[in-house]
Amino acid sequence: MQEAISDIVWELGNQKDIISTDPEDLHAHGYSSWSTVNPDELPVAVAYPRTTEHVATIVRVCHRHRVPVIPFSGGTSLEGNFSAPYGGVSIDFAYMNNIIQVNKDDMDVIVQPSVGWRDLNDELVKLGTGLFFPVDPGPTARIGGMIGTNCSGTNAVRYGTMKDWVINLTVVLSDGQIIKTRRRPRKSSAGYNLNSLFVGSEGTLGIVTEGEWRITQPFSTLKLAVLPEETSVAVVTFPSIRHAASAAASIMQAAIPMQCLEIMDEVQMRVVNLSKFTAPRVWVEKPTLFLKFAGTKGSVKEQIQLVEKITANHKGGNFEFAKDEQEQQLLWSARKESLWSMLSLRKEGEDVWSTDVAVPLSRLADIIEVSKKEMDELGLFASILGHIGDGNFHESIMYNKNDESERAKVEACVKNMVRLAIEMDGTCTGEHGVGWGKKESLLWEVGSETVGVMATIKNSLDPRWILNPGKIMEVPWERQDDHSAAKD
Ligand SMILES: Cc1cc2nc3c(=O)[nH]c(=O)nc-3n(C[C@H](O)[C@H](O)[C@H](O)COP(=O)(O)OP(=O)(O)OC[C@H]3O[C@@H](n4cnc5c(N)ncnc54)[C@H](O)[C@@H]3O)c2cc1C
Repeated sequence: MQEAISDIVWELGNQKDIISTDPEDLHAHGYSSWSTVNPDELPVAVAYPRTTEHVATIVRVCHRHRVPVIPFSGGTSLEGNFSAPYGGVSIDFAYMNNIIQVNKDDMDVIVQPSVGWRDLNDELVKLGTGLFFPVDPGPTARIGGMIGTNCSGTNAVRYGTMKDWVINLTVVLSDGQIIKTRRRPRKSSAGYNLNSLFVGSEGTLGIVTEGEWRITQPFSTLKLAVLPEETSVAVVTFPSIRHAASAAASIMQAAIPMQCLEIMDEVQMRVVNLSKFTAPRVWVEKPTLFLKFAGTKGSVKEQIQLVEKITANHKGGNFEFAKDEQEQQLLWSARKESLWSMLSLRKEGEDVWSTDVAVPLSRLADIIEVSKKEMDELGLFASILGHIGDGNFHESIMYNKNDESERAKVEACVKNMVRLAIEMDGTCTGEHGVGWGKKESLLWEVGSETVGVMATIKNSLDPRWILNPGKIMEVPWERQDDHSAAKD
């Protein structure tokens, strides 16, 4: 690995600030306090490329030395996705953060991997485009990592997930070769759908990058959506989590085009109150649905009337609308900041296990009720929240990370929830990805034959298993020896 680092520095012309081996930097790129799992190892270096050619050089050198390469964008992923269990070089795209081209008339944008989705939207407002990019995961997530995890967010119920917004990608392959997946039309049926192969592959098949060196071959082109004429935000409370979940399923079954449909249980509402993130506002501590309506004035009015009727049928009460845009943001921030709220309540030695599953809509109320009961029986501080309109929800459990038996109980509870979701024909992860933490769950979900097909694809694109090894599936033994040899 040391030889690889020297070669990278040499081949990039001894440029300053391209490689860091600062221990704090290594820690920040191999450990995450909000991730469910963290392997013991850290990367041995962090590379800061400025161009696609830099990335290609770094990857080519690592390929030669059989050294792992782990891409890193915003660092907000939650399943140990960017951790470095086999050491290696973390590639941080911090300096590749340009919006290269906004094509207003084509409703698309060309960006580099370190552009944050919020910064992109701010820029689109500043330019007066009337457009926005609707995929909204963790507030500080960036496009490269969002492609990595095929993320979602609160808008997914209406706008779909990251895979629906990618037009093309420029990708550095495991031997340093650079490819572009397709050109810029909004649709294409030319050949294999390589976008779908790379989106959600967590950096295990290729590194998504940009092409400063050739502006016509840029990193990734994303579709944009038109900002709705009218938006309205409301909250409504329910006597039980089952009532709230059933109401959400009924809203979806009525085909009401919600922009967002989110759930938080009474514990999570208490967490928001305790954290004071939205003070001085105090929330009713009951299971709550957060609703966002969008469209023309007329259609928003119609959607609200329909939803009010449905929620009333499920004993929903205290339907409360935001009076103005500021209040809309306040109401919504309670949902968007929910993980931070939970994290802010941690005491010394405590951690939060935050995990996600998704099930078909008709099974939502059942799984949420059972999972909540199991969590409550743990006797720990734990909440349920999520993107309920997509059948996707999260458990956040506070536990003492130094207490082995407590950790084991939490792990068992999470595994039970995953098993139950799979039994209901659901998935072990609706949006956070498999990462380092859910490899066993992926096997339960799709079976060894299907994981075998994934391994065949991995083998053909990355025969030395250097790209983010140990994520999504286990590294074969012979390749583990390679990585250990590189480390030694
Ligand atoms: C408060 C909070 C709220 C969240 N809410 C949501 C939510 O609502 N919905 C949701 O889906 N997720 C959510 N997340 C999780 C997280 O924001 C997403 O997983 C997001 O997509 C990660 O983006 P990132 O830039 O932080 O990626 P990183 O964590 O840096 O990386 C994620 C993965 O992508 C790979 N990767 C990074 N850059 C590249 C690249 N250029 N090419 C190829 N692979 C790459 C990494 O190796 C890693 O495997 C939340 C997280 C937090 C902390």
